[in-house]
Amino acid sequence: CGVFGIWGHEKAAEITYYGLHALQHRGQEGAGVVTTDGNTLKLHKKQGLVNDVFKNVDFSTLRGHAAIGHVRYATQGERSIDNVQPLLFRSQKGSMALAHNGNIMNAYSLRGELESAGSILQTSSDTEVLAHLIKRSEKNNIEVALKDALKRLVGAYAFILLDEHKMYVALDPRGLRPLSIGRLGSAYVVASETCAFDIIGATYEREVYPGELITISEQGMDTTRFAELEQRNLCAMEYVYFSRPDSDLNHVNVHASRKKMGIELAKEAPVNADIVTGVPDSSISAAIGYAEQSGIPYEIGLIKNRYTGRTFIQPSQELREQGVKMKLSPVRGIVEGKRVIMIDDSIVRGTTSRRIVRMLKDAGAKEVHVRIASPAIQNPCFYGIDMSTKQELIAANHSIDEICALVGADSVAYLSASGLEHAIVKEESMNQGVCMACMTGKYPVTEKDQTEIAYTR
Ligand code: 5GP
Ligand code: SF4
Ligand code: MG
Repeated sequence: CGVFGIWGHEKAAEITYYGLHALQHRGQEGAGVVTTDGNTLKLHKKQGLVNDVFKNVDFSTLRGHAAIGHVRYATQGERSIDNVQPLLFRSQKGSMALAHNGNIMNAYSLRGELESAGSILQTSSDTEVLAHLIKRSEKNNIEVALKDALKRLVGAYAFILLDEHKMYVALDPRGLRPLSIGRLGSAYVVASETCAFDIIGATYEREVYPGELITISEQGMDTTRFAELEQRNLCAMEYVYFSRPDSDLNHVNVHASRKKMGIELAKEAPVNADIVTGVPDSSISAAIGYAEQSGIPYEIGLIKNRYTGRTFIQPSQELREQGVKMKLSPVRGIVEGKRVIMIDDSIVRGTTSRRIVRMLKDAGAKEVHVRIASPAIQNPCFYGIDMSTKQELIAANHSIDEICALVGADSVAYLSASGLEHAIVKEESMNQGVCMACMTGKYPVTEKDQTEIAYTR
């Protein structure tokens, strides 16, 4: 998912629309915005792509000096309009809207607890529990109630909350998800990725720190902590696949890190070949890096149809396979008779690699060497990225030789975990650490989380 927020701008809703448009790649299932004018919260949300969601919106009906927005990528909860965010909770004491990126691992047990205490939950989304925890709090001060509520959550979360008078921004104690703050004139902006700042002409100010709770209001910006500072564990998959190449996450540019992944991969897994090609769009940067390091020319061997969405999002395996066919075509004149190094950012189920190897061979490629710019994904993610189970992960159930045979390649090699870390992490410091749990099995967790993981499995 992607989140966006703006405080202190007369065109808050419109700017949120632009911000969400830049974050579209983070979720295509639904989008929405909630504004405040100091008295009431107004909501507009719909299933579908950002442009469709906002197509017939009259922004004068969404007036207000602040807004939060969300693009949804379903990993938890059903695909229904109720689960499209921001979630808005109205009450006489005051209303509240929530936008969340991540996954609350203990949502199920918290729901049970809330329900037995009398709460009626409206959605099947894990996000809703936060609102109920705040509402159930006996504390009159919302900030204190919010801190207490955040302390109860286990998992990954980048939250933006909006009530009539304030905006609240929080990041989980290990900073698994990206979240940045910027300025647009005197307005404050918050976004999952900095590409959303660029599109609206805002300047990047800083990261939201793990365990930090920020309050933005007429009085300006105020910061406090709800958790001790811990080792940061920003999701490595954000760099590998999920984020846009023009974004900087935690001070590291995504394209630059992908290029380095390609460079490391060429060092670790060289092979004689005629051309290097990348699977568009997310693997182009790594392919450029591989070509640069190996001295083998980079070529456009595959073309992407820009009018299809991300294939991973399709619900069934059958549709996914269909999706890959619709999405990519080989450039016959380039690959015919050639030994091709095909770079992809990751392998999840192996569908994409298998299809593409076949496609390249059908187009006359003499050899296809698959090189993956990240380590093999062998473990499920509990933090809001892949919801694939272990059974679906090809690398959890097969050796590299078996994968090579299954995808029909002449050779397959993955980047090592240390190679990936080297490509992302600039310096050894608490705040630069990454999570690579789906690849290494080392979950960045406390004991409390371990129980949740054991339970979720
Ligand atoms: P597969 O086809 O092996 O199941 O999925 C891997 C391909 O899907 C890669 O080309 C990658 O770019 C793309 N992809 C789409 N969504 C995701 C995701 O959420 N995680 C990862 N790791 N790859 C994804
Ligand atoms: Fe990202 Fe993988 Fe960690 Fe999930 S387990 S947060 S996908 S690196
Ligand atoms: Mg891809």
